[in-house]
Amino acid sequence: MLTFAAPRRAKPARHLADLSMAERRDAVAELGEKAFRADQLSRHYFDRLTHDAAAMTDLPTASRDRLAEALLPSLLTPVREIVCDGGTTRKTLWRLFDGALVESVLMRYPERVTICVSSQAGCGMNCPFCATGQAGLTRNMSTAEIVEQVVAGARALAAGEVPGGPGRVSNIVFMGMGEPMANYKAVIGAVRRMTDPSPHGLGISARGVTVSTVGLVPAIGKLAAEGLPVTLALSLHAPDDELRDTLVPVNTRWKVDEVLDAAWDYARITGRRVSIEYALIKDVNDQEWRADLLGRLVKNRLAHVNLIPLNPTPGSKWTASRPEDERAFVRRLEAHGVPVTVRDTRGREIDGACGQLAAAAPEE
Ligand code: SAH
Repeated sequence: MLTFAAPRRAKPARHLADLSMAERRDAVAELGEKAFRADQLSRHYFDRLTHDAAAMTDLPTASRDRLAEALLPSLLTPVREIVCDGGTTRKTLWRLFDGALVESVLMRYPERVTICVSSQAGCGMNCPFCATGQAGLTRNMSTAEIVEQVVAGARALAAGEVPGGPGRVSNIVFMGMGEPMANYKAVIGAVRRMTDPSPHGLGISARGVTVSTVGLVPAIGKLAAEGLPVTLALSLHAPDDELRDTLVPVNTRWKVDEVLDAAWDYARITGRRVSIEYALIKDVNDQEWRADLLGRLVKNRLAHVNLIPLNPTPGSKWTASRPEDERAFVRRLEAHGVPVTVRDTRGREIDGACGQLAAAAPEE
């Protein structure tokens, strides 16, 4: 069962991060304030990462409270934080206004900080090896709910709460809960807020943003036309329709050749190298003949293959490939001249790695 349309639910409150600068100015004017207050408020939120009215001392006291109340509602409540890797990997469970739960993961490396964000509460794509997919779709997240995950991480980094000294977010990956291309409008809005320069947005380089998808072909085409140089990651996981129909059920709608054509078009239009994601599952998709087939499909394209050792999920009978099979798979791809990387499994021990986000509420 595939769920493309999210269930209709009450919408989260409107937030500054949902709006373009022009819309913010209108919203501020409607509150009886001068339009330039929108710029001031935006600087507080996107530059200083503050939503605390008391800290906005360049605004008249009465305006501060009115503006913060109307445009900076609290959208995410932290429920639980779990860390590993000496505090440099942290998974946060958030409660949204209606009780829906989502997770995000911050990963600090020596040379970069990546935040993995959710775009939906749950997911409707039903991939059998993914914990989120097994839970079904609760609802789409709003643009501001998506952006807030990054702002919260940026705030923790700036405050020096992540070991390694004060830092900044350099990379954002839409690889948390949800299928970003099934919540297209909110996701594009979030990418714009993330990448627009201050005070419009967070000013993070679009090259540092990766949108990962199971392969909703029309949406990939739309994304290519946005003029945003974000990286596209395509969750392929099998090079043949017979197996991909079962591993990535959306393949019953758009086949391997169609989804790869969309990916190559994306690479041609944007000039960005596409990342082909392939979770290696023992004795399921890790045979050498499949590596060969994958190599033939990807060779001479603006693409690389990112192999992900399967992360364990509850109730799944599948496990990661044997190390020797993984090595053979890599060698086969390299023989075709295809660039290959093997993703690290950061966050595995806190169920914060790829496919493990299920956002269960803690035992009370
Ligand atoms: N819905 C999007 C984005 C979220 S998943 C997508 O599927 O691309 C991010 C990546 O983790 C995807 O490539 C997904 O296929 C992969 N993944 C899911 N479950 C996994 C698991 N158990 N082990 C390893 N990778 C997994």
